[in-house]
Amino acid sequence: MSDAGVEFLGAPIAYLDNAASTPLCPEAIEAMSPLHREVYANPTGAHRMARDTRRLIDDARDVMAEALGSAPGEIVFTGGGTEGDNLAVVGRQMQAGGVAVCSAIEHHAVLAPVERLGGRVVAVDASGVIDFDALAAALDGDATVVSVMLANNETGMVQPLEEVAEAVRAAAPQAVLHTDAVQAFAWLDVAALAACADLVSVSAHKFGGPKGVGALVVREGVELWPLLLGGGQERGLRPGTHNASGIVGMAAAAEVVLKSRAEQAVRLAGLRDRLADGVLGAVENTVETGDRSGKVAGSAHLCFEGVESEALLFLLEDAGVYASAASSCSSGAQDPSHVLAAMGYDRALAGGALRLSLGYQTTDADVDRALAVIPGAVARLRDFGAG
Ligand code: PLP
Repeated sequence: MSDAGVEFLGAPIAYLDNAASTPLCPEAIEAMSPLHREVYANPTGAHRMARDTRRLIDDARDVMAEALGSAPGEIVFTGGGTEGDNLAVVGRQMQAGGVAVCSAIEHHAVLAPVERLGGRVVAVDASGVIDFDALAAALDGDATVVSVMLANNETGMVQPLEEVAEAVRAAAPQAVLHTDAVQAFAWLDVAALAACADLVSVSAHKFGGPKGVGALVVREGVELWPLLLGGGQERGLRPGTHNASGIVGMAAAAEVVLKSRAEQAVRLAGLRDRLADGVLGAVENTVETGDRSGKVAGSAHLCFEGVESEALLFLLEDAGVYASAASSCSSGAQDPSHVLAAMGYDRALAGGALRLSLGYQTTDADVDRALAVIPGAVARLRDFGAG
């Protein structure tokens, strides 16, 4: 990996918003290219080009099955993480009735459907890990789907999914367990860690693949209602013409992840530690949210007292550091983080949150730039606030 850094609009930047989206990896671009130029048929067709497209999708299905620890027939290609999460929660609840249950720190792609369905939301502790007493209280004979994410998109905290699965099996054996592994796949062995889940969703653009495509593992025997009705694609669970190039690009990116994940996780944990420790050492009255040892490697999440995230992000962008406050679907300080609120952070401290998320392309140069910029930006805002 070169340490030259990246440019955006002719200026050097440090892109530290990989939890929102990663750049496409070269392998994905290369794998997708023929599907844009030569093999563009609808895979349901009867001719040679259609068969070739179908074969590429089948190959991609094999790769995703290996990556996610499922049989190829258990993979449902989706239009991304939001769709996979909705299909799991809403599709299961529509099929089985009963009550949907999720943790309070889920992405809105899970939380909003659970709330809309009148489901139960389970508290987390101050570190952002699910509260097992609260989970036990939410599990009874009515629960039909339980959704607990593998890694959180704001703090990076990893959930003890196997223990969650045990709790579900003990108190609500009729319920299926869904895990949103969207933020986990780039860093963790999802095939192993989510083996206890009946439904597993991932999204390609979080690990070097294209946007608008993902996969949901639906284990054999788990019944869901589709959210869309139409043709019979994806076992009828996700009708509509396949996003063939997206699916092939996702599989190419997943293959890169499988080969490089362990090494990248070590490299990027080192960079993340240098970044987080550097900021904590240079900026007083800064809180690191959650226990770092329980987080995915690429995630640094800090709260600055007396600072508004939105103003900080503006100054950072001006200095070529691209980051975010909460998740990419929230709009900074005006929209306080439900994750930090669930962890017990008061509004003022949560309002000064900064998420620095590293990705496979992040280098020392990115960390250097961020460390050169962040302390000064926070100091400027604090001076301004005090003045
Ligand atoms: N789940 C988590 C944990 C996420 O971080 C995201 C995206 O930020 C999503 C779901 C939604 O994924 P997508 O952007 O592919 O719809």
